[in-house]
Amino acid sequence: MVDSVYRTRSLGVAAEGIPDQYADGNAARLWEAYIGCRQERTDQYKHWIVDQLRARQCHRILDAACGTGVDSMMLVEEGFEVTSTDASDKMLKYALKERWNRRKQPEFDRWQIEEGNWLTLVDDVSSSYVGQISNGDQLPQFDAVLCLGNSFAHLPDFEGNLSSQRRAIANFLELVRPGGFLLIDHRNYDEILRSGAVPTNNIYYNSSHISHIKCSTLYINGKANMVTMDYYMNPTSLAPLFGIEFSKNLAAHHFRLSYYPHQLEEFTEMLRDVAGPDAKHTVYGDFRPLGEVKIPAYYIHVVEK
Ligand code: SAH
Repeated sequence: MVDSVYRTRSLGVAAEGIPDQYADGNAARLWEAYIGCRQERTDQYKHWIVDQLRARQCHRILDAACGTGVDSMMLVEEGFEVTSTDASDKMLKYALKERWNRRKQPEFDRWQIEEGNWLTLVDDVSSSYVGQISNGDQLPQFDAVLCLGNSFAHLPDFEGNLSSQRRAIANFLELVRPGGFLLIDHRNYDEILRSGAVPTNNIYYNSSHISHIKCSTLYINGKANMVTMDYYMNPTSLAPLFGIEFSKNLAAHHFRLSYYPHQLEEFTEMLRDVAGPDAKHTVYGDFRPLGEVKIPAYYIHVVEK
């Protein structure tokens, strides 16, 4: 359905078989500049995430949308045992480079990085663990699975009934050990659809290199089906990072990403439905209890298995 009315800018298909919006390498190349200062970014929520993990004695973490590895690295540095997966090899390339650069640090040497698509994640993770499964474990299970940074919204609603989303969430939960939890977020699309624009406050991406973000919404039969964000970076401020030729190439400092606009009520219902009645579900707005931030930029869901 999505493909018949809409094409992303990058037509690449990842090895994992799903459309990879990062396949042309442009967004991946600009991602660190888009994130801004890594330290500043992770400082905003490091304590919150680390507290959530330590409060539940979590040690083995799966970052299922690691991208260039920004959150994974923070967790490796904090002493967690981290496995990072992503469907885009162009994004993973940066995480792999960083692991190589810091390989002399034993915690980075132990950091696992694999290709993994949420729709086949149990298989993808299991096959990468072949040879490492011990104690008769059939399935690698994690104390916590993370899918953060508005990543989950990258998955298009292929069938028009959120069946892919349900499958992905079921896969995440299958990889969580009993008593562990899933941490998954999405932008505040209720607000984006109401205002038609991208809010300026952002807990993850605050770089001074961002010039502006254009927001377009595609409706199918009256229902918002896809929000596309065109990110324009500031060529002058990026020139010292990427060279002068870069600043002359207009296409190089723009990237486009499309998202399924998850609204809070629908997303909550879907999560609860897939997780079942025994799972405990809590929502935070910008990592604060719901209601504290008037219009949060992100909703973060915690599902305890
Ligand atoms: N968490 C990182 C990355 C965010 S970008 C950060 O905050 O910086 C979103 C990531 O989701 C991209 O790297 C993209 O490749 C990945 N992604 C999108 N669809 C996916 C899928 N079906 N399976 C696995 N990863 C996917």
